[in-house]
Amino acid sequence: MSQIRVRNRLKPHENVSGATVTIASASNSVSGVTNSSGSATLNIDAFPDGDYTLTVTPSSTTTDPVGPAVASSPTPPDRVFRSLPATVSISAKKITSASVPVTSRTDGDASVDTHHVVTVDLQPVWMHSPNNGSRGTHQVTMIIVHHTGGPVIGPAINTFLSTGEQTSAHYVINTDGQIVKMVQDSRRANHAGEAHWAGVSDVNSCSIGIEIVNSTGTYPQAQYTALLDLIARLRTSFPTIVDWNIIGHSDIATTAGKLGRKSSDPGLQFEWSRLEGRRYGMTMIYGPFPTTIYASFFDSFPSESLRRGDNDAKRIFGGSKRTAITGNPVRQLQDDLTTIGYHLGTPDGDFGDKTRAAVQMFQEHFFAGGRGHKAPDGKVDWQTAQWVRSVVGAHP
Ligand SMILES: [Zn+2]
Repeated sequence: MSQIRVRNRLKPHENVSGATVTIASASNSVSGVTNSSGSATLNIDAFPDGDYTLTVTPSSTTTDPVGPAVASSPTPPDRVFRSLPATVSISAKKITSASVPVTSRTDGDASVDTHHVVTVDLQPVWMHSPNNGSRGTHQVTMIIVHHTGGPVIGPAINTFLSTGEQTSAHYVINTDGQIVKMVQDSRRANHAGEAHWAGVSDVNSCSIGIEIVNSTGTYPQAQYTALLDLIARLRTSFPTIVDWNIIGHSDIATTAGKLGRKSSDPGLQFEWSRLEGRRYGMTMIYGPFPTTIYASFFDSFPSESLRRGDNDAKRIFGGSKRTAITGNPVRQLQDDLTTIGYHLGTPDGDFGDKTRAAVQMFQEHFFAGGRGHKAPDGKVDWQTAQWVRSVVGAHP
């Protein structure tokens, strides 16, 4: 007799019950179904020594790429896993080795311990988060990109599966580019917190949230490939998504004019240029722009910055009283940031905390991926000013 144990690859203490396991040769086949402990026992006594195919088929499985098609039924199961083929070697009526073909290793792993127990770890593609709600009458118009802030996927998945923090995202992209779906696209997930973008304050109800497993350092190519493919699938299924509104959490996180706790999310390592190349998200036109922008402030003071405390009515620009500047550069800047989608309250010509936060959010996006000439600081120097005009110019 041979024991096969089937587990969730991303949550190894979670057994996969109800999976059909089969060992087959051309002339013989034995099958079993895993019990609540994820175990099935197969009688392999009739198998001569040799290599055989072990097939593991979970009760809910799919070959679809992870996206809108996965777990889309009105009453989805709790889990959906990939099916897996493995090769097992039988010697003297015991399984002595198990391996998965290279081409199937995205779907799982298999190994044998010293007691000849085979352990199969299946890749989940759907793990149902309880933290979801109705979108009400809202349509999906945005995609919000996040990073988890941790190096491995486990803690993020556990958080989204537990009801403790009540947070969730629709999709999580692992470091190897594999995607796990956790909330149905038709439902609202809790990923954005208090947020504003393009005049919308109920971002969760209008968006799909994608978390990328990343703590620090560059994002692997596999994650960009997965993200771009997922966005393409979502754009096909939800034509209501506005390309411009494919943005980062740090673009929308605001709390009373301060940066949200999720500032720098997905962070300065994230290469938005990858999305811009597909016309996803905010884009830009290329300058050069005349120094007459923003009331010619940079014509007069090319190495200074518009900053918090500046005020059109008081004629304070770059931190000093400058009556020679005519026009309203702060108000123009506020109008531009608002056009792009950033939230700073009602444009009023007063460069306060909310405007400073909006500038920093803008910089966190456009300076990311090594494009910045300085760290995001909420101050509008000549180069930042040109970036803002460049993005405004591309806004549809
Ligand atoms: Zn986030």
